[in-house]
Amino acid sequence: MTTTHHATDETLMRYAAGTLSAAPAIVVKAHLASCPVCRARVGQYEALGGALLEETEPTQMSATTLNDVLAMLDDEDATPLTPPPLAPVEIEGIRLPDALRGCDIGRWRWIGPGMKMSRVGVPQDPDANLILLKVGPGRALPDHGHVGTEFTYIVSGSFSDRFGRFSPGDLAEMDEDVEHQPVVDKDGECICLAALEGKMRFKNVMGRMLQPIFRI
Ligand SMILES: [Zn+2]
Repeated sequence: MTTTHHATDETLMRYAAGTLSAAPAIVVKAHLASCPVCRARVGQYEALGGALLEETEPTQMSATTLNDVLAMLDDEDATPLTPPPLAPVEIEGIRLPDALRGCDIGRWRWIGPGMKMSRVGVPQDPDANLILLKVGPGRALPDHGHVGTEFTYIVSGSFSDRFGRFSPGDLAEMDEDVEHQPVVDKDGECICLAALEGKMRFKNVMGRMLQPIFRI
């Protein structure tokens, strides 16, 4: 999977610091699983954060702790057990990113011609705005602007907007000043995972009809 569209540095920094809210963090995590470039950036920010913490809270490993660690390394019985393989995360047979593990994935619901949506419940944040969208070939995603940043991870298929073509593994990150109209490419349906930090502002009747369904 080659990724073309990445998370911004600000987002990766917030992800590393744990200040990104739950739904966008899940979308970014899905992208990180398929993007070594952004994974490396997050690693750098985490190391930087760790170094800053060390400066403010100096810690020393005590002799006892060190001995315990060495004893554990010597103990052959302490070999960790291999955990059983986890079942893949999926919706009606379609494989979803592992970042959704533990989430409550609803069934596909019809929300318009060629368009289905599944609301994703996030246990650690009941108010999270996280959805899966399945949109048919050649169809436009609901026309909208938004308050706050919108994060979209492409699970399968592809769409294009004025910023280019977005394929599986890519992350589309649009801030509130951006109005965009993604259209699914003609060669197949597109499934994406979308999160919002703020509220969505739909521009047309169809979008406004969706508002109560999205609960946003
Ligand atoms: Zn990336």
